Amino acid sequence: MLTFLIASNNAHKHQELREIFTLHGLSSADVKLIVPREVGITIDPEENADTYAGNALIKARAFANEPNRQPDWLVLADDSGLEVDALKGRPGLLSARYHKAAPNGDGCTELLRELMGVPPAHRQARFRAVLALIDTTGQEYLFEGVCEGSIGDRQRGTGGFGFDPVFAVDADPADRHMAELPSAEKHRISHRGLAMTHLIKNLGAT
Ligand code: IMP
Repeated sequence: MLTFLIASNNAHKHQELREIFTLHGLSSADVKLIVPREVGITIDPEENADTYAGNALIKARAFANEPNRQPDWLVLADDSGLEVDALKGRPGLLSARYHKAAPNGDGCTELLRELMGVPPAHRQARFRAVLALIDTTGQEYLFEGVCEGSIGDRQRGTGGFGFDPVFAVDADPADRHMAELPSAEKHRISHRGLAMTHLIKNLGAT
């Protein structure tokens, strides 16, 4: 049994990480996921690095150093974002802040507004996730996943979170938006799902 402290206060990420372990055949008998609040960890570290890896490591190290973290717990952090080519890679590292700054916290509507008039051929975008893992010896590992797509002309679907309703997935033959995919399908092609596949393959080595 491996125990992971999830270095995030984002409930969507907790749920997705749980589902991805299950998809890989790792049940609660194999992997235990602990979310910070349930063990009295309430920190919210400032993510001020200029790379996803840097931010993921800031989070992983901060949670790893919390006094309530047990020595036999691995620590897993995720930093992710949406890069839109027509916006020169924005919102990128600032994706979470983009939602907070948007009117009514509605980053999807704000993104569609920013891209108004941009033709379909110039709406390419990608989700990127970097996972940072700290093992029980303090060794650090990074795993990256990228999911290519484009920004549609409207919101579609009700699944997922964040920018999922506006993100049309290149890998989907039916051209669905991420929020239209059942969660298992999202995890098979998503940035986070791909990064987790690398991590799970490497678990034996950690
Ligand atoms: P973080 O918590 O700093 O890593 O911010 C991640 C932000 O990137 C989220 O708030 C979303 O706006 C966006 N994002 C990351 N992953 C996803 C995803 O799987 N679907 C939709 N939006 C995502």
